Amino acid sequence: GVPLEITGLTKKYARSTDRYAVRDLSFRVEKGQVLGLLGPNGAGKTTTLRMLMGLIRPDEGEIRVFGHAIRPGAPVLSRVGAFVEGAGFLPHLSGRENLELYWRATGRPAGDARMEEALEIAGLGDALARAVRTYSQGMRQRLAIAQAMLGLPDLLILDEPTNGLDPPQIREMRDVMIRYAAGGRTVIVSSHLLSEVEQSCTHLVVMDRGQLVQAGPVAEITGEG
Ligand code: ADP
Ligand code: ADP
Repeated sequence: GVPLEITGLTKKYARSTDRYAVRDLSFRVEKGQVLGLLGPNGAGKTTTLRMLMGLIRPDEGEIRVFGHAIRPGAPVLSRVGAFVEGAGFLPHLSGRENLELYWRATGRPAGDARMEEALEIAGLGDALARAVRTYSQGMRQRLAIAQAMLGLPDLLILDEPTNGLDPPQIREMRDVMIRYAAGGRTVIVSSHLLSEVEQSCTHLVVMDRGQLVQAGPVAEITGEG
């Protein structure tokens, strides 16, 4: 199956409200795409991504990840990695030690080449050897993104990965996503800024007030190319 196919996805946070967080959302993502989920705050991006990760249950609709139906509470497919804000690290350990700890905790063998390749793509360089307590907020965020990439999941989901990053870090993040997808992998990334997704993404899904506004290749949506 394709990396992601969602059909008629609908979610309200309360039965009593007439406000839909996500309403009748359908789109698909093909292998190798970097799909930007673009929309202002409150558009429903995080709600959509949480449903994809199986963290919350849609009221209606279907999610298929590599052909498998996603259900809350079911184990997340090993082919999926996700970044959400607020990952915790042990401050006295180095970035690398934290990631190795996480790697072993997920039951994967030490010295696995996937981990080294993921660290290469993440591009953290010498900072990996420093204690996390010396990291800036932006560096912690980049370590959390590296953590989501560790097993080189075929589908990588990033919720607002550039929040709190400075402009050079935002440019590096763009290169990280492009390098990640170059291996035939697929990335879904949310953002509220077109300027952040137009150069890193191949395709866009534009949302507003829970609904799909536009979807297609980036050049079609920005009117270039
Ligand atoms: P975005 O990620 O695009 O900013 P969200 O998915 O966070 O959008 O929010 C979509 C809508 O759902 C907003 O109106 C938001 O206030 C509401 N919402 C999000 N999370 C919750 C929640 N846990 N409980 C109630 N309403 C929520
Ligand atoms: P984002 O815009 O990245 O989705 P928010 O700042 O909107 O994040 O939300 C942060 C947290 O607050 C999330 O856990 C979200 O589910 C929750 N939240 C957002 N809107 C509401 C709401 N109207 N009622 C209750 N919780 C909400």
